[in-house]
Amino acid sequence: MTEAPVQRPPGAAGDVSFHDACTQCGDCARACPEGIILRDGEGFPVLSFAEGECTFCNACIDACEPGALNAGTPWLWRAQVGDNCLSDQGVHCRTCQDFCDARAIRFQLKPGGLADMSLDRDSCTGCGGCIAPCPVGAITLVQFKPETEARPC
Ligand code: SF4
Ligand code: SF4
Ligand code: SF4
Repeated sequence: MTEAPVQRPPGAAGDVSFHDACTQCGDCARACPEGIILRDGEGFPVLSFAEGECTFCNACIDACEPGALNAGTPWLWRAQVGDNCLSDQGVHCRTCQDFCDARAIRFQLKPGGLADMSLDRDSCTGCGGCIAPCPVGAITLVQFKPETEARPC
């Protein structure tokens, strides 16, 4: 079974070269002004969007002396909404839209006061800002193909 990719800080190359280069020094986590870089079970940095979002400030990349994080590496993550979205179940909720600065999330009103949600992956930056505010944890980040979905970090 293939393991799901882990959300490393921006600039991390593929997992093999990242693991080779990262010394687990923690400098990236200390540099992150949003406090979203934690350590995984092995001590490697991993992103957590439980309380914040990535602003793509590149502070983590600048702090990484071993070169495990490199500017220009494509950021492949984009938001994806799960089946438990309240809006899909006829409950009024627009919270994620309110937190999306990129305006990637929109709602089209339907008869009866309901609304269809759409998430535009071309507009989504993969910042993760919509994840924590969602009251039911319906939003995750998933990776998409580099040739169509990448943005430089
Ligand atoms: S780019 Fe900035 S906000 Fe994003 S993880 Fe790195 S230091 Fe934190
Ligand atoms: S915040 Fe969550 S539950 Fe509410 S509309 Fe967005 S994805 Fe759905
Ligand atoms: S990840 Fe960021 S840009 Fe994408 S939908 Fe969520 S808040 Fe908007």
